[in-house]
Amino acid sequence: MANDTLKRCLFCGKTENKVRNMFSAGNYHICDECVLFCYDILEEQGAVGPRAKVAEKQPKKGKLNDNGITLKKPSEIKKVLDEYVIGQDEAKIALSVAVYNHYKRIMTLDDAYDDVEIQKSNVLLLGPTGTGKTLLAQTLARLLNVPFAIADATTLTEAGYVGDDVENVLTRLIQAANYNVEEASHGIIYIDEIDKIARKSENTSITRDVSGEGVQQALLKIVEGTVSNVPPQGGRKHPHQEFIQIDTKNILFICGGAFDGLEAVIKKRTDSSSMGFGGTVKDKSSDFNILKKVVPHDLVKFGIVPELVGRLPVITVLDELDEAALCRILTEPKNSLIKQYTKLFELDNIDFEVTPEALTEIAKVTIEQKTGARGLRSVVERILTRLMFEAPSDDTITGIKITAECVRDGAEPEIIRRQDKDAV
Ligand code: ADP
Repeated sequence: MANDTLKRCLFCGKTENKVRNMFSAGNYHICDECVLFCYDILEEQGAVGPRAKVAEKQPKKGKLNDNGITLKKPSEIKKVLDEYVIGQDEAKIALSVAVYNHYKRIMTLDDAYDDVEIQKSNVLLLGPTGTGKTLLAQTLARLLNVPFAIADATTLTEAGYVGDDVENVLTRLIQAANYNVEEASHGIIYIDEIDKIARKSENTSITRDVSGEGVQQALLKIVEGTVSNVPPQGGRKHPHQEFIQIDTKNILFICGGAFDGLEAVIKKRTDSSSMGFGGTVKDKSSDFNILKKVVPHDLVKFGIVPELVGRLPVITVLDELDEAALCRILTEPKNSLIKQYTKLFELDNIDFEVTPEALTEIAKVTIEQKTGARGLRSVVERILTRLMFEAPSDDTITGIKITAECVRDGAEPEIIRRQDKDAV
């Protein structure tokens, strides 16, 4: 073949019979040697290759990106939390900042040129049951698109005892990441009821403490950061099993608990500090406001080991939900209870309505039950169960209305039937 009919590299002029590969776009050609030459230049500049990985991890203004994690700014994180969780502003702000900093920290870990190490900011959520602690953690994981696992501290025991090993918490996270250990290693773990593993007295017991301090110590290890061997399917470890290794130092831990009795600890501290000459007037605020005065040492007095308290630097107290908040929870969040029931009835072509007075009554009954927002569903279910049984097979029903009397006095919900409508 004559040389002038051969493809020629636009950069070096070599013809295709002199090189291994020629890449073409229409009449323009570049040989593999020139591609490699360009690659070397880019590598030198840190745009590709191993050094590029470090560069990619540098936080950029606005959106940070690492392994598919998209990170919003704290105010954007809070905005999404607002869509699902009512109230709890203080907790939302604390969580948004903690999460934002946590991911900034991960993304600057490989930064060999900077010797300022940002420390992990695990969070402790304090607050009565049903106030949204789990919901906050769940919503956060969803919006960050990272693996998320929930564990109940009451089921955890020290290795070798009946119950869940602490490592099983990590197994759950790895499972949530579809066994992608790299992804799991920067996920979020929510540990509920952390207060239930408090030791019973401040003095260390001489007997084994299977479910209290022992678990705290085991938990401390993974919260601090350790390379842990976890059984892939959970359950007990046994010698012939294969383990997955996971480094926990970049996992964000959010712990939650009601901490019943903590008020007394705080009261004791604040009262004694206000005694004697020159003491301030005794605190007359409610127990709830007292909880807001919590300091780390109160948690130690409560029975959490100081090392673990130290690893939970962000402490935030959730508000008790009042009548107005419960009414909003019933109707406002994206998947609120009333929206869910409306949808359920809609599928049977039935209009569903709850009067504002009925909403207030539902909130009142729930407050009496002291179960927080968790109790709302059972109150609504009680009113609707019979109707949900009967309505689908009665096609004359076109509407259901819940009034205050249905909630307060157990009156039947108002039912609108087809002939009623036709008669109008
Ligand atoms: P806990 O504080 O005990 O972890 P959860 O987060 O599990 O409480 O709340 C139980 C349920 O109550 C949630 O699934 C949610 O439906 C509702 N709920 C609780 N608090 C709120 C809130 N602040 N905003 C919206 N819904 C809430």
